[in-house]
Amino acid sequence: MNEIYIHDSLSNQKKKFEPIDSNNIRMYACGPTVYNYAHIGNARMAIVFDTFARLLRSKYPNVTYVSNITDIDDKIIEAANELNVPINELTSKYTDIYNQDMSNLNVLPPDIQPKATEYVEDMIKFIEKLVQNDKAYEKDGHVFFHVPSYPGYGKLSNRDAEQQLAGSRVQVSNIKKNQQDFVLWKPSSNCQPGWDSPWGLGRPGWHTECCVMSEVNLKIPFDIHGGGQDLLFPHHENEIAQSCASINSDNPEEYAKYWMHNGFVTINGEKMSKSLNNIILLNELLKEHDGETIRLALLSSQYRKSLDWNKNLLKQAEVLLKRAYDFLDNYDGDDSKGDLIGNIPEHLSNDLDTPKAITSINELLKNKSSYDDASIKKSLIYAGNILGIFCKKPSEWSKQNNIDEKEANEIEKLIHKRNVLKKAKDFEGADAIRDLLHSKGIELIDSQEGTTWKLKS
Ligand SMILES: [Zn+2]
Repeated sequence: MNEIYIHDSLSNQKKKFEPIDSNNIRMYACGPTVYNYAHIGNARMAIVFDTFARLLRSKYPNVTYVSNITDIDDKIIEAANELNVPINELTSKYTDIYNQDMSNLNVLPPDIQPKATEYVEDMIKFIEKLVQNDKAYEKDGHVFFHVPSYPGYGKLSNRDAEQQLAGSRVQVSNIKKNQQDFVLWKPSSNCQPGWDSPWGLGRPGWHTECCVMSEVNLKIPFDIHGGGQDLLFPHHENEIAQSCASINSDNPEEYAKYWMHNGFVTINGEKMSKSLNNIILLNELLKEHDGETIRLALLSSQYRKSLDWNKNLLKQAEVLLKRAYDFLDNYDGDDSKGDLIGNIPEHLSNDLDTPKAITSINELLKNKSSYDDASIKKSLIYAGNILGIFCKKPSEWSKQNNIDEKEANEIEKLIHKRNVLKKAKDFEGADAIRDLLHSKGIELIDSQEGTTWKLKS
Protein backbone atom coordinates (compact mmCIF):
# COMPACT_ATOMS: atom_id res chain seq x y z
CA MET A 1 0.00 0.00 0.00
CA ASN A 2 1.59 3.25 -1.05
CA GLU A 3 1.52 6.01 1.51
CA ILE A 4 -0.55 9.18 1.21
CA TYR A 5 1.29 12.49 1.18
CA ILE A 6 -0.45 15.77 2.00
CA HIS A 7 0.75 19.32 1.62
CA ASP A 8 -0.04 20.59 5.11
CA SER A 9 -0.83 24.33 5.15
CA LEU A 10 0.10 24.63 8.84
CA SER A 11 3.73 23.54 8.43
CA ASN A 12 3.74 24.55 4.75
CA GLN A 13 5.33 21.19 3.97
CA LYS A 14 4.41 18.05 2.15
CA LYS A 15 4.08 15.38 4.82
CA LYS A 16 3.45 11.67 4.97
CA PHE A 17 -0.06 11.13 6.28
CA GLU A 18 0.18 9.38 9.64
CA PRO A 19 -3.31 8.95 11.08
CA ILE A 20 -4.01 9.62 14.74
CA ASP A 21 -5.92 6.32 14.78
CA SER A 22 -5.65 4.23 11.60
CA ASN A 23 -8.91 2.45 12.52
CA ASN A 24 -10.82 5.71 12.50
CA ILE A 25 -9.75 8.43 10.08
CA ARG A 26 -11.50 11.73 10.75
CA MET A 27 -11.78 14.67 8.35
CA TYR A 28 -13.70 17.94 8.49
CA ALA A 29 -14.19 20.43 5.64
CA CYS A 30 -16.01 23.76 5.84
CA GLY A 31 -19.18 23.62 3.79
CA PRO A 32 -21.34 26.31 2.19
CA THR A 33 -23.35 29.20 3.61
CA VAL A 34 -26.77 28.54 2.13
CA TYR A 35 -28.60 31.61 0.82
CA ASN A 36 -28.03 31.35 -2.91
CA TYR A 37 -27.15 28.89 -5.68
CA ALA A 38 -23.73 27.25 -5.44
CA HIS A 39 -21.05 28.40 -7.89
CA ILE A 40 -18.21 26.38 -9.36
CA GLY A 41 -15.87 27.51 -6.58
CA ASN A 42 -18.19 25.81 -4.04
CA ALA A 43 -18.27 22.78 -6.31
CA ARG A 44 -14.48 22.56 -6.50
CA MET A 45 -14.20 22.47 -2.69
CA ALA A 46 -16.86 19.76 -2.40
CA ILE A 47 -15.31 17.68 -5.21
CA VAL A 48 -11.75 17.98 -3.88
CA PHE A 49 -12.65 16.78 -0.38
CA ASP A 50 -15.04 14.12 -1.67
CA THR A 51 -12.21 12.81 -3.88
CA PHE A 52 -9.82 12.88 -0.93
CA ALA A 53 -12.34 11.06 1.28
CA ARG A 54 -12.68 8.40 -1.45
CA LEU A 55 -8.88 8.04 -1.54
CA LEU A 56 -8.78 7.63 2.25
CA ARG A 57 -11.58 5.05 2.08
CA SER A 58 -9.62 3.07 -0.51
CA LYS A 59 -6.86 2.63 2.07
CA TYR A 60 -8.46 2.69 5.51
CA PRO A 61 -11.37 0.64 6.83
CA ASN A 62 -13.15 3.45 8.61
CA VAL A 63 -13.31 7.09 7.50
CA THR A 64 -15.62 9.72 8.97
CA TYR A 65 -15.99 12.77 6.78
CA VAL A 66 -17.90 15.74 8.20
CA SER A 67 -18.82 18.80 6.14
CA ASN A 68 -21.18 21.38 7.56
CA ILE A 69 -23.95 23.66 6.37
CA THR A 70 -23.81 27.23 7.67
CA ASP A 71 -27.47 28.13 8.06
CA ILE A 72 -27.11 31.17 10.32
CA ASP A 73 -25.14 34.16 9.12
CA ASP A 74 -25.66 37.89 8.52
CA LYS A 75 -25.70 37.36 4.74
CA ILE A 76 -28.54 34.85 5.19
CA ILE A 77 -30.50 37.26 7.39
CA GLU A 78 -30.07 40.00 4.80
CA ALA A 79 -31.15 37.78 1.90
CA ALA A 80 -34.21 36.52 3.79
CA ASN A 81 -35.22 40.11 4.66
CA GLU A 82 -34.85 41.19 1.06
CA LEU A 83 -37.01 38.32 -0.17
CA ASN A 84 -39.35 38.66 2.78
CA VAL A 85 -39.25 34.92 3.56
CA PRO A 86 -38.53 33.14 6.85
CA ILE A 87 -34.84 32.32 7.29
CA ASN A 88 -35.33 28.57 7.63
CA GLU A 89 -37.38 28.50 4.44
CA LEU A 90 -34.51 30.13 2.56
CA THR A 91 -31.80 27.95 4.10
CA SER A 92 -33.65 24.67 3.66
CA LYS A 93 -34.39 25.54 0.01
CA TYR A 94 -30.73 26.25 -0.78
CA THR A 95 -29.47 23.31 1.28
CA ASP A 96 -31.63 21.00 -0.84
CA ILE A 97 -30.46 22.63 -4.07
CA TYR A 98 -26.83 22.39 -2.96
CA ASN A 99 -27.15 18.71 -2.08
CA GLN A 100 -28.92 17.96 -5.36
CA ASP A 101 -26.24 19.80 -7.38
CA MET A 102 -23.49 17.94 -5.52
CA SER A 103 -25.19 14.63 -6.14
CA ASN A 104 -25.26 15.50 -9.88
CA LEU A 105 -21.48 15.92 -9.62
CA ASN A 106 -21.16 12.46 -8.01
CA VAL A 107 -20.17 14.03 -4.68
CA LEU A 108 -21.14 11.45 -2.07
CA PRO A 109 -23.02 12.89 0.91
CA PRO A 110 -20.58 13.49 3.78
CA ASP A 111 -20.95 10.91 6.58
CA ILE A 112 -22.26 13.74 8.75
CA GLN A 113 -23.58 17.09 7.49
CA PRO A 114 -24.20 19.15 10.64
CA LYS A 115 -26.26 22.34 10.44
CA ALA A 116 -25.02 25.23 12.56
CA THR A 117 -28.46 26.07 14.01
CA GLU A 118 -28.65 22.59 15.55
CA TYR A 119 -25.47 23.19 17.60
CA VAL A 120 -26.13 26.56 19.19
CA GLU A 121 -26.47 25.07 22.72
CA ASP A 122 -23.03 23.46 22.31
CA MET A 123 -21.63 26.73 20.98
CA ILE A 124 -22.88 28.61 24.07
CA LYS A 125 -21.16 26.04 26.33
CA PHE A 126 -17.97 26.34 24.27
CA ILE A 127 -17.96 30.14 24.53
CA GLU A 128 -18.60 29.92 28.30
CA LYS A 129 -15.51 27.72 28.58
CA LEU A 130 -13.43 30.34 26.72
CA VAL A 131 -14.69 33.05 29.07
CA GLN A 132 -13.82 30.85 32.08
CA ASN A 133 -10.33 30.23 30.64
CA ASP A 134 -9.85 34.00 30.39
CA LYS A 135 -9.54 33.83 26.61
CA ALA A 136 -12.77 35.68 25.87
CA TYR A 137 -14.74 38.53 27.43
CA GLU A 138 -18.24 39.96 27.30
CA LYS A 139 -19.01 43.55 26.38
CA ASP A 140 -22.47 45.04 25.67
CA GLY A 141 -24.06 41.70 24.76
CA HIS A 142 -21.10 40.70 22.57
CA VAL A 143 -18.50 38.11 23.46
CA PHE A 144 -15.07 38.60 21.91
CA PHE A 145 -12.11 36.27 21.68
CA HIS A 146 -9.08 38.05 23.09
CA VAL A 147 -6.39 37.38 20.47
CA PRO A 148 -3.35 38.33 22.63
CA SER A 149 -4.38 35.57 25.07
CA TYR A 150 -3.46 32.95 22.44
CA PRO A 151 0.26 33.18 21.63
CA GLY A 152 0.06 30.83 18.64
CA TYR A 153 -2.17 33.23 16.69
CA GLY A 154 -0.97 33.69 13.09
CA LYS A 155 0.84 30.34 12.80
CA LEU A 156 -1.43 28.99 10.05
CA SER A 157 -1.61 32.10 7.90
CA ASN A 158 1.89 33.30 8.73
CA ARG A 159 0.75 36.88 9.11
CA ASP A 160 1.98 39.50 11.52
CA ALA A 161 -0.48 41.61 13.51
CA GLU A 162 -0.73 44.35 10.89
CA GLN A 163 -1.45 41.94 8.05
CA GLN A 164 -3.98 40.17 10.26
CA LEU A 165 -5.94 43.36 10.67
CA ALA A 166 -5.79 44.16 6.96
CA GLY A 167 -6.90 40.64 6.01
CA SER A 168 -9.80 40.36 8.40
CA ARG A 169 -11.28 43.77 7.54
CA VAL A 170 -11.99 44.27 11.22
CA GLN A 171 -14.25 47.21 11.84
CA VAL A 172 -12.70 49.68 14.19
CA SER A 173 -14.64 49.22 17.34
CA ASN A 174 -14.32 50.86 20.71
CA ILE A 175 -15.87 47.98 22.60
CA LYS A 176 -13.02 45.56 21.89
CA LYS A 177 -9.95 45.38 24.12
CA ASN A 178 -7.78 44.82 21.07
CA GLN A 179 -8.55 45.49 17.41
CA GLN A 180 -7.60 41.92 16.46
CA ASP A 181 -10.21 40.46 18.79
CA PHE A 182 -13.04 38.74 16.95
CA VAL A 183 -16.65 38.12 17.80
CA LEU A 184 -17.87 34.79 19.22
CA TRP A 185 -21.40 35.90 20.08
CA LYS A 186 -23.39 38.94 19.04
CA PRO A 187 -26.69 40.35 20.23
CA SER A 188 -29.86 39.90 18.15
CA SER A 189 -32.70 42.35 17.96
CA ASN A 190 -36.25 41.03 18.23
CA CYS A 191 -36.58 40.77 14.47
CA GLN A 192 -33.30 38.87 14.09
CA PRO A 193 -32.92 35.17 14.87
CA GLY A 194 -31.65 34.72 18.38
CA TRP A 195 -31.05 32.22 21.16
CA ASP A 196 -31.10 32.84 24.91
CA SER A 197 -27.63 32.89 26.36
CA PRO A 198 -25.81 34.08 29.50
CA TRP A 199 -25.12 37.26 27.47
CA GLY A 200 -28.73 37.85 26.42
CA LEU A 201 -30.58 37.07 23.21
CA GLY A 202 -28.04 36.61 20.43
CA ARG A 203 -26.44 34.42 17.81
CA PRO A 204 -23.03 32.82 17.32
CA GLY A 205 -20.22 34.18 15.16
CA TRP A 206 -19.23 32.07 12.17
CA HIS A 207 -15.76 31.01 13.41
CA THR A 208 -17.21 29.30 16.46
CA GLU A 209 -19.53 27.05 14.47
CA CYS A 210 -16.86 24.87 12.91
CA CYS A 211 -14.92 24.45 16.19
CA VAL A 212 -18.04 23.07 17.82
CA MET A 213 -19.41 20.98 14.95
CA SER A 214 -16.03 19.35 14.36
CA GLU A 215 -15.38 18.66 18.04
CA VAL A 216 -18.86 17.28 18.76
CA ASN A 217 -18.83 15.00 15.70
CA LEU A 218 -15.18 13.97 15.48
CA LYS A 219 -13.59 14.70 18.90
CA ILE A 220 -10.33 16.63 18.91
CA PRO A 221 -7.66 16.28 17.74
CA PHE A 222 -8.87 14.92 14.40
CA ASP A 223 -6.74 14.13 11.35
CA ILE A 224 -7.52 16.58 8.56
CA HIS A 225 -9.20 19.96 8.39
CA GLY A 226 -9.95 21.26 4.92
CA GLY A 227 -11.58 24.11 3.10
CA GLY A 228 -11.12 26.70 0.40
CA GLN A 229 -7.99 28.82 0.42
CA ASP A 230 -10.09 31.91 1.12
CA LEU A 231 -10.94 30.45 4.55
CA LEU A 232 -7.33 30.13 5.68
CA PHE A 233 -7.48 33.61 7.19
CA PRO A 234 -9.26 34.62 9.29
CA HIS A 235 -11.71 31.68 9.54
CA HIS A 236 -9.29 28.82 10.09
CA GLU A 237 -6.81 30.88 12.06
CA ASN A 238 -9.67 31.82 14.39
CA GLU A 239 -10.87 28.23 14.63
CA ILE A 240 -7.42 27.10 15.78
CA ALA A 241 -7.17 29.93 18.33
CA GLN A 242 -10.55 29.13 19.90
CA SER A 243 -10.25 25.35 19.93
CA CYS A 244 -6.73 25.41 21.38
CA ALA A 245 -7.69 28.09 23.90
CA SER A 246 -10.68 25.99 24.99
CA ILE A 247 -8.29 23.23 26.08
CA ASN A 248 -5.55 25.62 27.25
CA SER A 249 -3.11 24.39 24.62
CA ASP A 250 -0.71 26.34 22.44
CA ASN A 251 -0.25 23.52 19.96
CA PRO A 252 -2.47 23.85 16.84
CA GLU A 253 -2.09 20.10 16.20
CA GLU A 254 -4.23 19.46 19.27
CA TYR A 255 -7.14 20.70 17.18
CA ALA A 256 -6.39 19.23 13.73
CA LYS A 257 -3.21 17.48 12.61
CA TYR A 258 -3.13 18.38 8.89
CA TRP A 259 -4.65 21.36 7.07
CA MET A 260 -5.56 21.20 3.37
CA HIS A 261 -6.70 24.17 1.30
CA ASN A 262 -7.99 24.10 -2.25
CA GLY A 263 -7.17 26.95 -4.64
CA PHE A 264 -9.55 29.41 -6.28
CA VAL A 265 -11.44 28.98 -9.50
CA THR A 266 -10.75 31.96 -11.74
CA ILE A 267 -12.51 32.98 -14.94
CA ASN A 268 -10.14 34.07 -17.69
CA GLY A 269 -7.55 34.79 -15.00
CA GLU A 270 -9.87 36.90 -12.84
CA LYS A 271 -11.45 36.13 -9.50
CA MET A 272 -15.16 35.40 -9.63
CA SER A 273 -17.07 38.35 -8.25
CA LYS A 274 -20.44 40.02 -8.36
CA SER A 275 -18.92 43.26 -9.60
CA LEU A 276 -17.29 41.53 -12.60
CA ASN A 277 -20.52 39.66 -13.22
CA ASN A 278 -18.56 36.50 -13.98
CA ILE A 279 -19.90 34.07 -11.37
CA ILE A 280 -20.65 30.68 -12.89
CA LEU A 281 -23.52 29.01 -11.10
CA LEU A 282 -23.50 25.26 -11.00
CA ASN A 283 -27.19 25.10 -11.46
CA GLU A 284 -26.86 26.82 -14.87
CA LEU A 285 -23.81 24.83 -15.92
CA LEU A 286 -25.56 21.54 -15.14
CA LYS A 287 -28.29 22.43 -17.61
CA GLU A 288 -25.75 22.34 -20.44
CA HIS A 289 -23.17 19.79 -19.29
CA ASP A 290 -23.13 16.39 -17.71
CA GLY A 291 -22.11 16.44 -14.01
CA GLU A 292 -19.32 13.96 -14.62
CA THR A 293 -17.81 16.23 -17.28
CA ILE A 294 -17.90 19.23 -14.93
CA ARG A 295 -16.38 17.13 -12.14
CA LEU A 296 -13.52 15.92 -14.31
CA ALA A 297 -12.89 19.45 -15.60
CA LEU A 298 -12.68 20.71 -11.99
CA LEU A 299 -10.17 17.97 -11.16
CA SER A 300 -7.92 18.87 -14.09
CA SER A 301 -5.71 21.09 -11.91
CA GLN A 302 -4.00 19.92 -8.74
CA TYR A 303 -6.29 21.01 -5.91
CA ARG A 304 -3.89 23.54 -4.34
CA LYS A 305 -3.40 25.46 -7.57
CA SER A 306 -5.90 27.93 -8.86
CA LEU A 307 -7.94 26.63 -11.75
CA ASP A 308 -8.72 28.91 -14.64
CA TRP A 309 -12.12 27.91 -15.92
CA ASN A 310 -12.76 27.85 -19.65
CA LYS A 311 -14.79 25.84 -22.12
CA ASN A 312 -11.72 23.98 -23.27
CA LEU A 313 -11.57 22.18 -19.90
CA LEU A 314 -15.06 20.82 -20.47
CA LYS A 315 -14.23 19.81 -24.02
CA GLN A 316 -11.10 17.93 -22.90
CA ALA A 317 -13.04 16.22 -20.11
CA GLU A 318 -15.73 15.17 -22.59
CA VAL A 319 -13.17 13.68 -24.95
CA LEU A 320 -11.59 11.63 -22.16
CA LEU A 321 -14.93 10.43 -20.85
CA LYS A 322 -16.01 9.44 -24.35
CA ARG A 323 -12.81 7.45 -24.94
CA ALA A 324 -13.16 5.70 -21.59
CA TYR A 325 -16.85 4.89 -21.99
CA ASP A 326 -16.24 3.65 -25.55
CA PHE A 327 -13.55 1.34 -24.20
CA LEU A 328 -15.74 0.09 -21.35
CA ASP A 329 -18.60 -0.40 -23.80
CA ASN A 330 -16.48 -2.53 -26.11
CA TYR A 331 -14.67 -4.54 -23.46
CA ASP A 332 -16.89 -6.24 -20.95
CA GLY A 333 -14.27 -8.89 -20.11
CA ASP A 334 -13.06 -9.90 -16.69
CA ASP A 335 -10.55 -7.49 -15.18
CA SER A 336 -9.70 -9.67 -12.17
CA LYS A 337 -6.48 -10.85 -13.83
CA GLY A 338 -5.46 -7.33 -14.81
CA ASP A 339 -2.92 -5.13 -13.06
CA LEU A 340 -3.16 -1.53 -11.95
CA ILE A 341 -1.10 0.31 -14.55
CA GLY A 342 -0.13 3.90 -15.23
CA ASN A 343 0.89 4.68 -11.62
CA ILE A 344 -2.58 6.03 -10.93
CA PRO A 345 -2.63 5.06 -7.19
CA GLU A 346 0.80 6.67 -6.76
CA HIS A 347 -0.29 9.94 -8.41
CA LEU A 348 -3.47 10.17 -6.37
CA SER A 349 -1.66 9.39 -3.12
CA ASN A 350 0.86 12.12 -3.86
CA ASP A 351 -1.11 15.07 -2.49
CA LEU A 352 -4.02 14.17 -4.77
CA ASP A 353 -2.21 14.80 -8.04
CA THR A 354 -5.32 14.48 -10.19
CA PRO A 355 -3.83 16.03 -13.37
CA LYS A 356 -1.12 13.34 -13.45
CA ALA A 357 -3.70 10.60 -12.85
CA ILE A 358 -5.86 12.04 -15.66
CA THR A 359 -2.85 12.16 -18.01
CA SER A 360 -2.18 8.48 -17.20
CA ILE A 361 -5.77 7.54 -18.01
CA ASN A 362 -5.45 9.39 -21.32
CA GLU A 363 -2.21 7.58 -22.12
CA LEU A 364 -3.75 4.18 -21.44
CA LEU A 365 -6.70 4.96 -23.69
CA LYS A 366 -4.64 6.50 -26.49
CA ASN A 367 -2.17 3.61 -26.56
CA LYS A 368 -4.64 0.80 -25.92
CA SER A 369 -2.72 -1.66 -28.07
CA SER A 370 0.35 -1.47 -25.79
CA TYR A 371 -1.57 -2.84 -22.79
CA ASP A 372 -3.89 -5.71 -22.09
CA ASP A 373 -7.56 -4.83 -21.93
CA ALA A 374 -8.11 -6.35 -18.48
CA SER A 375 -5.42 -4.07 -16.99
CA ILE A 376 -6.83 -0.98 -18.69
CA LYS A 377 -10.29 -1.80 -17.35
CA LYS A 378 -9.00 -2.48 -13.86
CA SER A 379 -7.10 0.82 -13.84
CA LEU A 380 -10.06 2.79 -15.18
CA ILE A 381 -12.37 1.36 -12.55
CA TYR A 382 -9.85 2.07 -9.78
CA ALA A 383 -9.35 5.67 -10.96
CA GLY A 384 -13.08 6.16 -11.51
CA ASN A 385 -13.95 5.08 -7.97
CA ILE A 386 -11.64 7.71 -6.50
CA LEU A 387 -12.11 10.49 -9.05
CA GLY A 388 -15.87 9.93 -8.99
CA ILE A 389 -16.16 9.33 -12.75
CA PHE A 390 -17.13 6.40 -15.01
CA CYS A 391 -20.10 5.86 -12.69
CA LYS A 392 -22.69 5.39 -15.42
CA LYS A 393 -23.42 2.50 -17.72
CA PRO A 394 -21.48 3.21 -20.94
CA SER A 395 -24.65 3.12 -23.05
CA GLU A 396 -26.32 5.62 -20.72
CA TRP A 397 -23.40 8.03 -21.07
CA SER A 398 -23.23 7.96 -24.86
CA LYS A 399 -26.96 8.61 -25.04
CA GLN A 400 -26.58 11.79 -22.97
CA ASN A 401 -23.41 13.07 -24.59
CA ASN A 402 -22.98 13.61 -28.25
CA ILE A 403 -19.55 15.03 -28.83
CA ASP A 404 -17.42 15.16 -31.88
CA GLU A 405 -14.33 13.20 -30.98
CA LYS A 406 -13.14 13.27 -34.58
CA GLU A 407 -12.95 17.05 -34.48
CA ALA A 408 -11.07 17.02 -31.17
CA ASN A 409 -8.57 14.48 -32.55
CA GLU A 410 -8.09 16.61 -35.66
CA ILE A 411 -7.23 19.65 -33.52
CA GLU A 412 -4.74 17.66 -31.47
CA LYS A 413 -3.08 16.37 -34.64
CA LEU A 414 -2.68 19.92 -35.99
CA ILE A 415 -1.21 21.13 -32.67
CA HIS A 416 1.31 18.30 -32.83
CA LYS A 417 2.21 19.21 -36.42
CA ARG A 418 2.66 22.86 -35.41
CA ASN A 419 5.00 21.86 -32.58
CA VAL A 420 7.11 19.85 -35.01
CA LEU A 421 7.31 22.83 -37.38
CA LYS A 422 8.21 25.19 -34.53
CA LYS A 423 11.02 22.87 -33.45
CA ALA A 424 12.31 22.89 -37.03
CA LYS A 425 12.13 26.71 -36.89
CA ASP A 426 9.54 26.78 -39.68
CA PHE A 427 7.63 29.61 -38.04
CA GLU A 428 5.68 30.49 -41.16
CA GLY A 429 4.30 26.97 -41.37
CA ALA A 430 3.52 26.97 -37.63
CA ASP A 431 1.69 30.30 -37.90
CA ALA A 432 -0.31 29.02 -40.84
CA ILE A 433 -1.66 26.20 -38.67
CA ARG A 434 -2.48 28.62 -35.88
CA ASP A 435 -4.34 30.85 -38.36
CA LEU A 436 -6.21 27.89 -39.82
CA LEU A 437 -7.45 26.86 -36.37
CA HIS A 438 -8.23 30.46 -35.57
CA SER A 439 -10.45 30.69 -38.63
CA LYS A 440 -12.38 27.68 -37.29
CA GLY A 441 -13.00 29.44 -33.99
CA ILE A 442 -10.23 27.70 -32.04
CA GLU A 443 -7.72 29.59 -30.02
CA LEU A 444 -4.33 28.08 -29.09
CA ILE A 445 -2.77 28.73 -25.71
CA ASP A 446 0.99 28.23 -25.48
CA SER A 447 2.61 27.75 -22.09
CA GLN A 448 5.68 26.07 -20.63
CA GLU A 449 3.70 22.84 -20.22
CA GLY A 450 2.75 22.79 -23.89
CA THR A 451 -0.11 23.93 -26.06
CA THR A 452 -3.78 23.64 -25.23
CA TRP A 453 -6.78 25.00 -27.07
CA LYS A 454 -10.13 26.54 -26.39
CA LEU A 455 -13.14 27.61 -28.36
CA LYS A 456 -13.05 31.35 -28.96
CA SER A 457 -15.62 33.09 -26.84
ZN1 LIG B 1 -15.58 26.49 8.89
